Amino acid sequence: MLNRRIAEDQAVIVGAGISGLTAAIALASRGLAVTVLERAAQPGGKMRTVPIGASQIDSGPTVFTMRWVFEELFAAANRNFSDHVKLRPLDVLARHAWDDSGHLDLFADEARSADAIGAFAGAAEAARFRQFCADARETYRRLERPFLRSAKPSLPGLIISSGWRGLLQLPKIRPFTTMWNALGDYFHDPRMRQLFGRYATYCGSSPYMAPATLMLVAHVEQEGVWVIEGGMHQLATALADCAIALGVQIRYEQEVREVTIAGGRANGVTLSSGEHMAASNVIVSADVTALGSGLFGADAARAAVPVKLNERSLSAVTWSLVARTSGFPLSRHNVFFSRDYAAEFDDIFNKGAVPDEPTVYVCAQDRADNEATLLRDDAEELLVLINAPAVGDRYPFGPAQVERYAERAFAVLQRCGLTVTHDPQATVATTPNDFHRMFPATGGALYGRASHGWTASFRRPGARTKIPGLYVAGGSTHPGPGVPMAALSGRSAAASLYDDLAEMRGWKQARDPATP
Ligand SMILES: Cc1cc2nc3c(=O)[nH]c(=O)nc-3n(C[C@H](O)[C@H](O)[C@H](O)COP(=O)(O)OP(=O)(O)OC[C@H]3O[C@@H](n4cnc5c(N)ncnc54)[C@H](O)[C@@H]3O)c2cc1C
Repeated sequence: MLNRRIAEDQAVIVGAGISGLTAAIALASRGLAVTVLERAAQPGGKMRTVPIGASQIDSGPTVFTMRWVFEELFAAANRNFSDHVKLRPLDVLARHAWDDSGHLDLFADEARSADAIGAFAGAAEAARFRQFCADARETYRRLERPFLRSAKPSLPGLIISSGWRGLLQLPKIRPFTTMWNALGDYFHDPRMRQLFGRYATYCGSSPYMAPATLMLVAHVEQEGVWVIEGGMHQLATALADCAIALGVQIRYEQEVREVTIAGGRANGVTLSSGEHMAASNVIVSADVTALGSGLFGADAARAAVPVKLNERSLSAVTWSLVARTSGFPLSRHNVFFSRDYAAEFDDIFNKGAVPDEPTVYVCAQDRADNEATLLRDDAEELLVLINAPAVGDRYPFGPAQVERYAERAFAVLQRCGLTVTHDPQATVATTPNDFHRMFPATGGALYGRASHGWTASFRRPGARTKIPGLYVAGGSTHPGPGVPMAALSGRSAAASLYDDLAEMRGWKQARDPATP
């Protein structure tokens, strides 16, 4: 009876990325009728693959963490996540190199990492690493419930939920210090500072401007990194399959051009085809800047504040390729550092330029720890990524520039001892122009607003907007970018929508304990 009543309330979700699919599952699990409209031909959004010959190269997210977010989501839908997505834990979280004199691995086992750091940078640095891990763990522990799982946290709210004792301990979490400065208190070896500073880029930010609280990302990775069998895209497929099994309708190649508002409340969407779909509630999981800048209509634009040019997070230039490698012993996740980190972020955030010497991330997709199952002729599937400014709407990245950036990136790899012999025919480059086309209004910014300054984390919008019946989700909203974070935002949007609907309809429903 209750379910039939709920099903009269049609929810429309714009976007079948991770947040949109997560919201769909969370709502359908509670009996709501849900339709997802996606402009691309397949699910996943940024979690996309690029075909190179017979290979499908994961060309979006490659590092999978916080599996509990998806385990909880599936459990709330009476399903077992591990029946649908096969995960393998990595022993080596990431391999790091600065030159051709060797490399430093971080392991899932903290003691092993400390030993490796001891051998690489000395026993005192290893002890400092232990202290850093303890503090990152504590930061995470204190922020998980009041921040990550909260629908829209505020500093006063955090202080209240932490109590006076928590308030007194806040300096330890150091929200007012930059990540770079805080790391300088831990690490004396500049390479270690650079290594841990890189975690700011997971939120599309510069370690020189991000708050020290972002060191919780280091803890998240320390808690486990998994390889998804069949590739990251399997996760998007599994989420879409789960949603469909719960009765969600997913319509691909359907672009939403307007969220319609009547009497001050969202009442549906209009597609580019002209079709209007009525809905009592709408969740937009596109970047909030698209909503705020009017891409979903002038009325709906009131619901969000667009991110300004100088507030945009990082974009990237990526190369998806099948190539032979030699020299450097690749692991699954590899980072080859630039020699001047400050110059790199100055180039990106102050000059709006691709760095002269970038830090280069290489995901060797046929490798896990020390095993490799390479393709025919010892070729392997790689994603090579460098950070870039989000200027995809104002600067054309032509073939000559992209070639120059490739030379810079592959020169860094060569300096660290890795030779990549690749065929330009088996290489696909993606630039900020392409990301801007795929994710309109962003300039190619991949992570919403940069987390610069101590208030930045509180400036991401929560799920509820000013317009009743209209909600937002995704990596540009709270709690932030990244696959599990986007999923948390989807769950949060679903929970907010459901609670508001329950109140409006006078339902007495116990909250789902798994939903934030
Ligand atoms: C190169 C790269 C590497 C990354 N690496 C990692 C990593 O290793 N680990 C990690 O956790 N995260 C990583 N991320 C970040 C992570 O991928 C994202 O934060 C996350 O996938 C965002 O999901 P989302 O649902 O918020 O948005 P999106 O994936 O952007 O989904 C939004 C969807 O909405 C659709 N849409 C937009 N407008 C419309 C419209 N008008 N009508 C219909 N549909 C519309 C889009 O087509 C898209 O499918 C990476 C991202 C990139 C790009």
